[in-house]
Parts: sequence; structure tokens; C-alpha cells
Amino acid sequence: MSHKSDIEIAREAKKKPIQEIGDKLGIPSDHLLPYGHDKAKVSQEYIDSVQKNETGKLILVTAINPTPAGEGKTTTTVGLGDGLNRIGKKAMICIREASLGPNFGMKGGAAGGGYAQVVPMEDMNLHFTGDFHAITSAHSLLSAMLDNHIYWGNEQAIDTRRVTWRRVVDMNDRSLRQITSSLGGVSNGFAREDGFDITVASEVMAILCLASNLKDLEKRLGAMIVAYRRDRSPVYCRDIKAEGAMTVLLKDAMQPNLVQTLENNPAFVHGGPFANIAHGCNSVIATTTALKISDYVVTEAGFGADLGAEKFMNIKCRKAGLSPSAVVLVATVRAMKMNGGVAKADLGEENVDAVKKGCPNLGRHIENVKSFGVPVVVAINHFVHDTEAEVQAVKDYVKEHGAEAVLSRHWAEGSKGSEDLAKKVVEVVDAGNANFGPLYPDDMPLFEKIETIAKRIYRADEVLADKKIRDQLKLWEEQGYGNLPVCMAKTQYSFTTDPNLRGAPTGHSVPVREVRLSAGAGFVVVVCGEIMTMPGLPSKPAAENIRLNDAGEIEGLF
Ligand code: ADP
Ligand code: MG
Repeated sequence: MSHKSDIEIAREAKKKPIQEIGDKLGIPSDHLLPYGHDKAKVSQEYIDSVQKNETGKLILVTAINPTPAGEGKTTTTVGLGDGLNRIGKKAMICIREASLGPNFGMKGGAAGGGYAQVVPMEDMNLHFTGDFHAITSAHSLLSAMLDNHIYWGNEQAIDTRRVTWRRVVDMNDRSLRQITSSLGGVSNGFAREDGFDITVASEVMAILCLASNLKDLEKRLGAMIVAYRRDRSPVYCRDIKAEGAMTVLLKDAMQPNLVQTLENNPAFVHGGPFANIAHGCNSVIATTTALKISDYVVTEAGFGADLGAEKFMNIKCRKAGLSPSAVVLVATVRAMKMNGGVAKADLGEENVDAVKKGCPNLGRHIENVKSFGVPVVVAINHFVHDTEAEVQAVKDYVKEHGAEAVLSRHWAEGSKGSEDLAKKVVEVVDAGNANFGPLYPDDMPLFEKIETIAKRIYRADEVLADKKIRDQLKLWEEQGYGNLPVCMAKTQYSFTTDPNLRGAPTGHSVPVREVRLSAGAGFVVVVCGEIMTMPGLPSKPAAENIRLNDAGEIEGLF
């Protein structure tokens, strides 16, 4: 069997006009704001009008520690959404928008894959409805106003060596990571060190994804810390008076984008914060709206469950008052093998022993997710080379560890392949056994929050942090930020901070390198290891092969 590429499958999609998709959800046409024929934003008035509706059931899709290729969380999210619709449920999915930059580096889109995709996938992976451009613009407005404030006399007494507000662009461009700005003489301002992050790393992105409405968005933007004075007191965005105009630029970007799956089922694709220095989930407004207009909502969190699910629960659900009914933990046979010590090049060969050896990684994620009070279904995302014996080994292991694993073939077969998974998920959700609670209370000291995650989720023995870091956390507590959740930034490949330590290691320490306050988004970022907020391009960027063919179609994207 030869396989079509994701883009070939997507191009063959029999898309329906977006109004028909809106009709399925009961969204009147005057509340769908179309962007072309296959994308639309949902009006704020409509969102306000559905608040009194009953709330549907929320299902989170997360995964084991991934292999570098990605384990198919988005693909499974889409496949499960289609599967639920296939068995007659009113279900929709909520996923993230894609960052433009990485498309031109390494291949790999954000719309799912195979026969479980969201369309139009080219749009979704490129400019889409302009949300990320709006975020870049809002962020850049504040950058410009900040330097302008300094230029015209610096009334706020900003210490130009302590400007924390960096610039952003939605491109992988390593040469901008560290720059000197305002060069060229008196009329260009005061030269200072500066740098660029990729747009998705902007705090504006995290805020857009956590804000409950435009008023809340404006308030949070105003609360962002942009610099410090010589006495180390913070200067806020509101001191620069930028939050009003930024909110104006973000007005449309705040509205969720409605698109469809290959099987014409509704999907919100909205927001896309980094999963390391931010929380890595689609917007709160999309998720909460979806819950008001459908009975089952399937959503995804970035990276493995140690990061993605933990932040989904402790940050997004806590802040938005959400309560998941079930978690689908995606596992693949090849990732089990990698966790069991097999090298990437050898993944094609059957190796039941390695699968068994890698399973404790899965087992620990099952335990961890259950500790939030939410039941787990393991979805084995089937790859064509997986053997029956390997799949059975995963199923047996999961059964011994208090959950059930269902094989799912949505990538190859669409909803026909995910029917069993959908049935199992409905059974678990409708049993109503979830009793969600976050891992730590708001009032726990910040350092203890870090320790709680490190010990209970990563199973580390200790957290290592310099006095400087501990003092910083104490200072933030004194300034009133002690009730914030923490946002862990560490490698997604391991429970530890060492990407090469796969499986289920114990006895390790978690060294904290740096802490950062995202006062507007409302979390303290805890950096444990190398993190990259401005990626670079590889030696042969995918962009070299991307072009329009004679039919005007995009080639080489995925
Ligand atoms: P994640 O969301 O976990 O990063 P994705 O769902 O985006 O992963 O999938 C990553 C890549 O793997 C995509 O290109 C997708 O087409 C591919 N993929 C996912 N599931 C399968 C599968 N069962 N067989 C083959 N390729 C798959
Ligand atoms: Mg994904």
C-alpha cells in the first residue's frame, strides 16, 4: 500500500462551505464571520449568547514522552473527534494554530496527518486568519512605544539595561536572537541590547490564550512587566499606556476560528502558545465556547503528559474553571521501543522486548494523570509497521496498570479506524467518575509548587536552585505573585531534565536555571535546561523546496 502525503490527502478533501459546518453547531450565519469559503470566526455576541447553555464534556489528548518525530497527538485528537461524530455524538475538536516559522525549517504541520486532518491545512499552517500577524503587531507596538518612551525623556525611569520586553517576528531567524538596537546616532534613541523571539513565544500569545474576554485581555496586557528601574521596581505595559491600542489590534484575533476535519466535522483552531515558556494549549475562549455548543470536546496539549497535561490541568483548567472528564494518552509502539532503548534507525524491526522495556514510561504517565482525578484511556496510534505482538504487549501492560488501551487506525482509515476508541472514551466519560483537582493549591509557596511537580510528576528526589533563584521567588511572593501557578520549561523527551534519559527514571534532581515572571499571562516560568525562544533553520531548510506549481497549488509544504 503506498501512502499519500498529508498535503495530497488534504487537497482531495470534499470540504463543505463553512456555513454548513456552522449549521451543525447551530451558529446563525450572521454570527459567522467568514474568511473565504472554508474558515470563519465566531462573533463575540454569539459566544455571549451561549453562556447559559449546558457545558459539554472535556477530553484531553496527551502523550507519553515523545520521540523526536511526534507521536500523533493532533492526529489522534482529530481522529477521535471524527470517531465521536461517527458514532452519533455531537462532538468538536479544539487545537492550536501553527507558527509560520517552523514550516520553512523542518517539515511537519499542525493540522494532524493521514486521514485525520483539519482543512484547509495549507492556510492553517501559513497565514490562516491573520491571528499571529495581529499578535506580532500588538507585540511590536509595545516594543516601539517602550523605546519611544525612553527616547522622549524616560519619565518612568526605565533602566535600559533591564528591559525585559524583547521583540518578535514569526520566522526562524537565529541572527536576531541577540542584537543591538537604536544604533546610528542621537535621533535613533539610546543604543541598548535587545533581541527577538518567535511570535508564539510572546507573552501576548499566552495572554490571548488564557483571557476570558476582551476586557480580561486588556487587563492582562496592562499587567505585563516590560522592564525594571534602577531600584528594581517593575515597569508595566500599562505604565507605557499600550494595552488599549494593543487590544484594538487583537480584537479579531480573540475570536475562535471555525474550520472542518476531512470528514466535515467542526473544529476550532485558535491560539498557539509555546509549550515550554508558556502552557502550550489552544485558547480558553475556543475551548469554553466549544463546550457550550457541543456535547464532547476533544482538545490537545503540547509535548508529553509530564509537561502538556500537567500545564493543561494546573494552568489552563485551574484558571478557566475547566474540569476534564477523561484523558486520552497517546502511545505508539515505536515510542515504546525508543523509551526501551532502541535507536531511531532500528525502529522498523519487531522488538517486543524493547516495547515491554519502554512501557514503564507509559505506566508512569497513566499514574500521573490519574493523580489529577481524571480517568485515562490509552490510544495506541497505529503505524503500518507495528506488529500484532508489539501492540498486544502494550495492551497487556496497560491492563496491568489500571487502564485500558485501544488500538486506533485513524491515520490510515479516518473515523472508521477510531470507532473503537470513540466508544471507549464515551463509556469512560459517561460513567462520570472524573473528580478533577489540580496538583497544588494556589496558596502554596512557589518553590514548593516546583517541588510538588518535580517529585510527583517527574519523580525526582530534589529540586536544585541557587539562593538567587529562591530569593527571586520570595520577592515575587512579597509582591503578590505567590498565588500564581508555575510553568515548567524542560525537555519533552524525558521525565528528567536530560533528554537522553528515557523510560521511567528515578533518583534524579531537577536543576532550576532561571525563573521568569509572566505577570500578565499569570504564571511563573521555571526554566530547567536549555530552552529556545527563537529557533534557527536547518542547513537545508524546507523552504528551498516550497513553491507554487502551474496549477497554483502549494508544493513541498508537507
Ligand atoms: P503531535 O501532535 O504529537 O506532535 P502529529 O499528530 O502532528 O503529532 O503527528 C506528527 C506527524 O506524524 C505527522 O506528520 C503525522 O502525519 C504523522 N503521523 C501521525 N500518526 C501517524 C501514524 N499512525 N502513521 C504514520 N504517520 C503518522
Ligand atoms: Mg500536535
